Amino acid sequence: MSKGFLLVISGPSGAGKGTVSNELLARNEDIVFSISATTRKPRPNEKSGVNYFFLDEEEFQKKVEEGGFLEHAFVHNNYYGTPKDFVIDEIEKGEIVLLEIDVQGALQIKNNYKNVVFIFLLPPTMDELKNRIVKRGTETEEDIERRFKNAFEELDFVGKYDYFVVNDKVEDAVQDIENIIKAEKLRVKRHSDIKNKIISKGGK
Ligand code: 5GP
Repeated sequence: MSKGFLLVISGPSGAGKGTVSNELLARNEDIVFSISATTRKPRPNEKSGVNYFFLDEEEFQKKVEEGGFLEHAFVHNNYYGTPKDFVIDEIEKGEIVLLEIDVQGALQIKNNYKNVVFIFLLPPTMDELKNRIVKRGTETEEDIERRFKNAFEELDFVGKYDYFVVNDKVEDAVQDIENIIKAEKLRVKRHSDIKNKIISKGGK
């Protein structure tokens, strides 16, 4: 089995997936971020090719028809998808590929791929979740309500994940995820030659 694997992080809007992922990427050189495609309009601080590949609906559908997505879903009124080629190449190189995707996309991945670790990021409370979406100030009133309502439905899926992490303090959440990664790296199935490696170090 390849040493690389997919690390899927999901959680409701406002759980802090972006902040936690950025910190994780800054601290761990062997994790690469899979930049998704979306039909959502960019927020003021977002750049195409950095946060997302921003596509119109026609471009998105074309990529769907070409089989260019590992998974794709309709989330909060927009399409989102994970470009396939990048992920497959990076896994083969032995990298850990971070996918920050919604629960529908995670389920598609679960049905089609084996070498995946699923983490669900939770807010400390639902009040705090709402505060964070409002404070971000990037969504309309209607979108805030849609995202908050969807959050309750998304929480139904936590049982399908391998791990949950509560994002109260970002530092603690990142540390929890790093601990999960450390354990995953030590899985025997990722080290088929472990016996020979030890023996070759000498001793009779
Ligand atoms: P946002 O619009 O806040 O950036 O993201 C909205 C939701 O879409 C989040 O739950 C985020 O994880 C999810 N999302 C982002 N990229 C993808 C993707 O490639 N596939 C799927 N299925 N969901 C995505």
